[in-house]
Amino acid sequence: MTTTTEAKTKTYLNYVNGEWVTSETGKTGVSKNPAKKDEVVGVYQLSSSNDLDKAATSARQAQNAWKKLTGNVRGDYLLKAASIMEERADDIGEAMTLEMGKTFPEAKGETMRGVAILRYFAGEGMRSVGDVIPSTDSDALMFTTRVPLGVVGVITPWNFPVAIPMWKMAPALIYGNAVVFKPASETAVTSAKIVECLHDAGIPAGVVNLVTGSGSLIGPEMANHKKVDAITFTGSNTVGKQLAKIAVERGIKYQLEMGGKNPVIVANDADLDLAVEATISGGLKSSGQKCTATSRVIVQKDVYEAFKEKLLTEVAKITVGNGMDKGTWMGPSVTEGQLNTVLSYIEKGKKEGATLLYGGNKLDGKGGLNGYYVEPAVFEGVTPDMVLAREEIFGPVLALMKVNTMEEALETANDSEYGLSASIFTTKIANMLSFINEMDAGLVRINAESAGVELQAPFGGMKQSSSHTREQGQAAKEFYTSIKTVFVK
Ligand code: NAP
Repeated sequence: MTTTTEAKTKTYLNYVNGEWVTSETGKTGVSKNPAKKDEVVGVYQLSSSNDLDKAATSARQAQNAWKKLTGNVRGDYLLKAASIMEERADDIGEAMTLEMGKTFPEAKGETMRGVAILRYFAGEGMRSVGDVIPSTDSDALMFTTRVPLGVVGVITPWNFPVAIPMWKMAPALIYGNAVVFKPASETAVTSAKIVECLHDAGIPAGVVNLVTGSGSLIGPEMANHKKVDAITFTGSNTVGKQLAKIAVERGIKYQLEMGGKNPVIVANDADLDLAVEATISGGLKSSGQKCTATSRVIVQKDVYEAFKEKLLTEVAKITVGNGMDKGTWMGPSVTEGQLNTVLSYIEKGKKEGATLLYGGNKLDGKGGLNGYYVEPAVFEGVTPDMVLAREEIFGPVLALMKVNTMEEALETANDSEYGLSASIFTTKIANMLSFINEMDAGLVRINAESAGVELQAPFGGMKQSSSHTREQGQAAKEFYTSIKTVFVK
């Protein structure tokens, strides 16, 4: 049944071969606001295999001409899209806040990061892509060049609905690939808005295609599609592994960026104010829904009590509410399902014997809140074998773990199947060096929060956090191109 609110909201379409089209299924899904239950943000297409087939076919047809354009011409499209996105940053940021709950300043900041990503990769169209290699034949010239992969399937999560699609699509496009983009259903509206920027920049028809709808239906179809030559995925480990199996079976290139269980180490010699501020920012912003969010807080015993007291004082100041309200520091969980997952981890933590020092209560209905809200939670007495220390929660939950020595801190930090990001707070160079050398994570940060990614630097995890590939910066070239060695005599 269509509600009055639904009837008022805009319907967003798929984007195939340069046109905005409905799904052939005639079915639509509804994107809702987690901060205001039942408020509809937009209506999106629930696509079928046939819709995907049309998108992949149009991408395949368009890619040949696209790859023949010079890098600077491809870059001009990205620059134009960047300017359009910049003009629309308020609108896109608002859509993001309404769909997934992060605060508007964070959402607008992320949109501006999308702009910066487009500009960075636009410049790559004018940078070198190969090396001259001395041949053993004195009459020959030998060098490498890079060629695009073809059609890249892009599957993304809801937690960074502008930055992640942009850090996949911008490099894919600049190196001459065409794209079929399947965003998370929760953020289908934001995704349509970023594709609109590329469309309005005049990108040739078929080079970028958007197909929304159920990931469990379209995702495997995309990885299996004969006209899709590579898959880049960010999301959960379960789905990532399923896609990897298909990609290996088909012999196509794939890239997975997945979960994290990111530690922060607070050493005896740390600046505690800084450590507290960064732990809160890294662990609780965006309601802990970042793959790089701080989750395990490993503190040396001499400063444990002082750190804990400061942390609890500051966490108590956090204002939870609608991300569109100016006073809000932390918004809701993205969906009711995600909220329930967070609450169930809080219950498991208590049952396993960890002590809940602060928060963890559902806030729905309290103080006029009508969404998927939970107080930030701080546990202590968490041991490495507990679920709280092992599984990714994707919620505002900090697990304090007390250790005696720096060796024990590093051992505890490394005792995880994940290895995405990690940080340490210390003033001792020896501690910094041990951390750099010993920490098994793709991103290690010293005196800075675990959740910080710069678009010009490689990003990706170790262990179960990734397919051991890297995204962003110059590393993107490794994934989105193939090296061709050329011998000329
Ligand atoms: P998810 O459930 O794996 O979904 C991610 C994407 O995959 C969505 O577009 C989803 O579509 C689609 N999908 C769902 N089932 C699929 C299937 N069987 N085959 C192919 N695609 C499928 O993950 P999420 O809950 O959105 O995101 C949270 C996870 O992402 C966390 O584990 C987080 O750590 C990880 N993450 C990692 C990074 C990183 O860079 N390492 C960054 C951000 C997030 P639907 O929405 O339609 O289901």
